[in-house]
Amino acid sequence: MIRDPRKAAVIAIGDELLEGRHADTNSGAIARRLADLGIDVVEFRVLGDERDRLARTMWELCERYPLVVATGGLGPTLDDVTREAAADAAGVNLVRDASVEAHLRELFARRKREFAESNLRQAELPDGAQLMPNQNGTAPGFRVWIGGGVLAVLPGPPRECFDMLERELVPWLLATCGRGEHFATASFHLVGLAESSFADRAGDWMARDANPRMGVTAHQGTLRVTLRARAATRERAEERIAARQAAFRERFARELFSEDEPRLAFVVGRELVARGLTITTAESCTGGMVAEFLTEVPGISAVFREGFVTYANEAKVARLGVPGELLERHGAVSREVAAAMAAGAARAGNARIAIAVSGIAGPDGGTAEKPVGLVCFGLAVDGVVTSHELRFPPVDRHTIRTFATHAALELVWRALRAPQA
Ligand code: AMP
Ligand code: MG
Repeated sequence: MIRDPRKAAVIAIGDELLEGRHADTNSGAIARRLADLGIDVVEFRVLGDERDRLARTMWELCERYPLVVATGGLGPTLDDVTREAAADAAGVNLVRDASVEAHLRELFARRKREFAESNLRQAELPDGAQLMPNQNGTAPGFRVWIGGGVLAVLPGPPRECFDMLERELVPWLLATCGRGEHFATASFHLVGLAESSFADRAGDWMARDANPRMGVTAHQGTLRVTLRARAATRERAEERIAARQAAFRERFARELFSEDEPRLAFVVGRELVARGLTITTAESCTGGMVAEFLTEVPGISAVFREGFVTYANEAKVARLGVPGELLERHGAVSREVAAAMAAGAARAGNARIAIAVSGIAGPDGGTAEKPVGLVCFGLAVDGVVTSHELRFPPVDRHTIRTFATHAALELVWRALRAPQA
């Protein structure tokens, strides 16, 4: 039995990870999933395919944590030694598992491939280990007790790793360590708020020891917030979450765009489709990114008319009918021109909504009056045109373009929530 399984460590195994040829993405993904169950991963280790060092680390971490998850090094070739190291750490021998051997032989027969004897290495498990079958590959995983902790070993290829985690390890963890503690989770997706302003307004909801505990990550101009409540019964955990959810919805009503879909473009696109509202885009500095994000949404063809990428002034005049005099007087990056672009796009694209973007993405082209990061937006909704201006920090070109794209989507989202839309 696991004693108090609230802390865990993850070991990522493979020479390629240490040599910088391949990034360790499994550890973070495993940690995220364990966090859902209320298990905090407090340490990551990355190690090469080196039997002694691996065995020592497995033993050391199992002394300290009730749960250690390892990933990688289960292949059939001799350079993979995770199995051997786990057996060493547990102080047992490797024994061949007949059911795994039969499964491997059958797999090869079905694929009409010759069975190489080296595959039999994958049928070996530390004596006393519990098998975790692999539905997506040949290498099975396993759980083995080492001192006071349990070591769970998953394959390295991400698909095999996560599928086994989900099918084999998570249910086992829930069954074994669900005693006395229950968890409930919730998430929120916000737009139009910097992480620091969020933290100010969230106040002590974000304290380390708060229950529910809150986490936030910034992603392309949106914020992803997660809540996790802990309690002695499931009902109590769910009550805790529900109470905080209600308060959160009220406090962040202006910024909350979704509680499940993290992609703002999908929330906007689906609503446009559901309400049959046609849309068109006119983009300068974002070069079609707004159109790109919107056209990722399945079914958007019912409402997405066309997108204009009007970079040059002449294009703004020729395609969108922006008056040359406006361009001369205010410059291409101005609220006036952005508004004219939106009005022109709505007309040319025969759409009820048009969103226009014109800005300075840098690194060159900024002036004291119009610095890098200045972006102007025009929005036309049923003939009513508004204009907006934002000043993003002068970061890199890609980031400014991405921020501008999300800001454009945010304007459309806000327009959809306005009573007259
Ligand atoms: P393995 O059979 O465990 O030696 O690993 C096979 C492949 O899985 C490697 O070549 C990587 O492409 C992938 N892989 C292994 N470990 C990781 C990891 N920690 N994160 C992401 N991919 C991994
Ligand atoms: Mg390897």
